[in-house]
Amino acid sequence: MRLILVGPPGAGKGTQAARLAERHGVVHVATGDLLRFSVQWKTDIGREAKQYMDAGMLVPDDLVLELLRRRLSQSDAQRGYVLDGFPRNPAQADALDKMMVEAGQHIDAVVAVEVPDETIVQRLSARWTCPTCQRTFQVKVSPPAGGHRCPDDGDALFQREDDRPEVIRARLGVFREQTEPLVAHYEEQGLLGRVSGVGTLDEVAGRILAAVQEVRAAR
Ligand code: AMP
Repeated sequence: MRLILVGPPGAGKGTQAARLAERHGVVHVATGDLLRFSVQWKTDIGREAKQYMDAGMLVPDDLVLELLRRRLSQSDAQRGYVLDGFPRNPAQADALDKMMVEAGQHIDAVVAVEVPDETIVQRLSARWTCPTCQRTFQVKVSPPAGGHRCPDDGDALFQREDDRPEVIRARLGVFREQTEPLVAHYEEQGLLGRVSGVGTLDEVAGRILAAVQEVRAAR
């Protein structure tokens, strides 16, 4: 099973992609996480990517594609994956189409998770991240002394540099200009389902599952 979740930053794609991957017994591949780990480990790709990420801009395609190719060639990705945060522009979508043809594979469904801009700004400015597992949490109260901690790792949560309001606006602009046009690309291929990302985690998860089933049934 190969699925793609498309949506603006803060649409809840990461959480939903992880659930969906678990349900289908496939891996969750988030290019944002791959890039953040590369930055943390100070790899060549990480060193180059950091400036773009801090500014809320897209990292150059060749770097992202290199990371993605490496991740998808690992053995645990052979049963399938849920892609989260990739593709982000038409060139990346074309590169993915080409990779699918070369591998004799296909994408089963693409789900667009739709959320209004005001909701995104509210959600992202309240988002805290675990530096170890990259899990994110909605924190609406001020942190206690010692800060908020990750329930899994016990590490102090932090606010991502790119979750600052001015960077959030830049990321939203990039999404509307470069990523949203992909929805039409997948609609033409008969792969697209659209769901509202507003609601509880379970509600949104239910909508995504229904959309995937609908797309697969129609093929
Ligand atoms: P995300 O966690 O998906 O919001 O990604 C965080 C940042 O990583 C983005 O703002 C981009 O700078 C970079 N990034 C993640 N995925 C991609 C991608 N597919 N193409 C280019 N840049 C990406």
